[in-house]
Amino acid sequence: MVEEALSRAQSANNAKNAFLSNMSHDMRTPLNAIFGFTTLAKMESGDREAVQSYLDQIEVSSRQLLRLIDDILELSWMESAQVDLLEEQYNLQDLLQDVCNEMMPQAQEKGIVLSLNFADTKHSSVYGDRARLNQVLKYIVNNGIKYTEYGGKVTVDVTEKEVLPNNYVVYEFKISDTGIGIEKEFLKHIFEPFEREKNSTLSGIHGAGLGLTIAKNIVDRMGGTIGVHSVVGQGSQFTVILRFQTEEGVMSCSGQDKISAGKVENRRILVAEDNEINREIETELLESLGLVVDTAEDGSIAVEKISGAAPGYYSLVLMDIQMPIMDGYQATRTIRRFQDPKLASIPIVALSANAMEKDIRMAHESGMNAHVAKPFDLDNLAEVISKFIPEIQ
Ligand code: ADP
Repeated sequence: MVEEALSRAQSANNAKNAFLSNMSHDMRTPLNAIFGFTTLAKMESGDREAVQSYLDQIEVSSRQLLRLIDDILELSWMESAQVDLLEEQYNLQDLLQDVCNEMMPQAQEKGIVLSLNFADTKHSSVYGDRARLNQVLKYIVNNGIKYTEYGGKVTVDVTEKEVLPNNYVVYEFKISDTGIGIEKEFLKHIFEPFEREKNSTLSGIHGAGLGLTIAKNIVDRMGGTIGVHSVVGQGSQFTVILRFQTEEGVMSCSGQDKISAGKVENRRILVAEDNEINREIETELLESLGLVVDTAEDGSIAVEKISGAAPGYYSLVLMDIQMPIMDGYQATRTIRRFQDPKLASIPIVALSANAMEKDIRMAHESGMNAHVAKPFDLDNLAEVISKFIPEIQ
């Protein structure tokens, strides 16, 4: 017994050490590319195309680094705290389509056919945590693409397995690939943190060995199961089974609030942001959407500007969270207590690098309408702004 425990502890320790050394490598590699391409871009004197290609490389490496940071934080957060799952109503078919749309560019880059079969399902309007399920499916589909060679196939098959009493329904999500497959011995460890069959240097495939651990953690919390079947050289199949509460009848898909240029054109928004570089970037990007941008260097200045403005002067506030003098939460609470109901109800969207679940919850609790994580995607930010900017009366 003691020997077994010792050997388990040693193997966990070995995995951690391997993780730290891989991590250092996996962080330095994109950073090296970022530094290198920045130097090259600075040296370039007039070739716009070359600069563009350096910038593209910088973007790819930054995304790689961001994914790594997100995964590490996500896992440590999950291990250290009780994560509450949301109970919101959403359309499962829309969610699956979103996952496939997000993954499509990656698949296309490798000439992989990514397909979604969502057949024989009568109850696509379900209750649960949409973002978490999206995350689980993305990790698995992403692996399917990562570990499948050029020209292969990744298929997502979704079936309604069983209808239970009280409007419950069981769904099965099967994600199959025609990739490299997984050794039987490794399958036993596949959901353990930091475990990878081959490290990034050997396989040339980046990863920290955290995706499936996070996915399993979420599925466990949802009361579901996740399993894997794989044959080396032929491919792998991951199966997730989950139970959802549904509504009687199928809801129609809710239309996405796409940004409409007319809606935001010339509307004034206040950006509360203490970091000068971020202020400059945000201002330029928001102006490119046709918005008129005013800035505040901290929460208290934002409060002052809103309280001194006529109702409707600002259509929305983009609020950083960590700021000196007054942070974003405090500023929001102060604004929500304003006497004038129109000023007090101005839409406030957090734009913050505090992007863990507890930060998002605190943003909502302080009275913010939405939360967008930094680094942000302009299309996504534009969509959120467009959703919360009130119609002109
Ligand atoms: P990462 O892909 O970042 O290494 P994961 O936790 O997502 O981490 O996966 C752990 C390991 O499981 C991977 O390193 C890889 O060896 C193996 N693996 C996961 N999915 C697949 C797949 N579809 N095909 C082959 N191997 C896979």
